[in-house]
Amino acid sequence: MTVSGLATPFGFQSFPNFTQGRQGNSVNKIVIHHMATTDYDSVPGIWNSRQASAHYGIGQDGQIRAYVDEDNTAWHAGDWGTNLTSIGIEHANVNLAPNYDIAQATIESSAKLVADIAKRYGFGQVVPYKNLFPHSQFTSTACPGQLKDKLQEIADRANTINNGGQSVPTQSTTTEQPAQPTSTGSSAIDKFKAGGDRFVLQGSFINNTCELQYGIYQVRSQELTAEPFSWRDNGIPTKLLEDLDDPQGRSFNDGGRVAFKKEYQRGTIDKYSENANAVGIDFLDGNGIIWFDADKFWNHA
Ligand SMILES: [Zn+2]
Repeated sequence: MTVSGLATPFGFQSFPNFTQGRQGNSVNKIVIHHMATTDYDSVPGIWNSRQASAHYGIGQDGQIRAYVDEDNTAWHAGDWGTNLTSIGIEHANVNLAPNYDIAQATIESSAKLVADIAKRYGFGQVVPYKNLFPHSQFTSTACPGQLKDKLQEIADRANTINNGGQSVPTQSTTTEQPAQPTSTGSSAIDKFKAGGDRFVLQGSFINNTCELQYGIYQVRSQELTAEPFSWRDNGIPTKLLEDLDDPQGRSFNDGGRVAFKKEYQRGTIDKYSENANAVGIDFLDGNGIIWFDADKFWNHA
């Protein structure tokens, strides 16, 4: 399962109108849509009755919701070959016809999500009509309204983000994080070493998915994990974690917020991988190293 760390699952795959897998294809483009509604919460429920779906939706305030696993094929482009090779992003409108305006906060979040997707799938530069398309490119439709004229703006912002202009903040870092060390200057690995190999990780992060792997329940969090991900090296056992959304039941539902238990929030880094920009920690001494992206880990202190 693949969901952007920027997104919160909402009605996630609660509708039938998408296809499991991508029939062997890989993602090489993003298709931009507008919702043609101001009712952000009505999506994706409408896809129970309409033969359509998309991977993500962005609200008027810039919130990003995930509706369909990126590894699955959403029905959004009106063209099957495009559906198989693309990620579809919906955008809420702030008014209806004839303007169908889009809030600037929505466009800003769109750029962040586009940057994140482009980075993860190795698009290189985001370029309109090369890897970023309006829905109308693939079928006869008025969608995406005025966003058709904003593709270059979205691409420019996304490229600035990916070219080191700034890191991609996630919702967890904008809501309940304490003051954090900034990660400008030397690399995160250098900073961990300079601090005597000590780490602190008190911040919460999203559990993108929780699975029974290698006989233990583990959480995958794209906010922390080194890529490429493997359950053997990068999964976080639930016994290390608090389930902040369900502290009693510890159900670890996908998309929930989790944090390390107090006793695991501080400790020593056991290994570094300079090549992978990763830090390795053996939380339960002798139970095996878990590898995290050094910058992501640093930024969650
Ligand atoms: Zn559309």
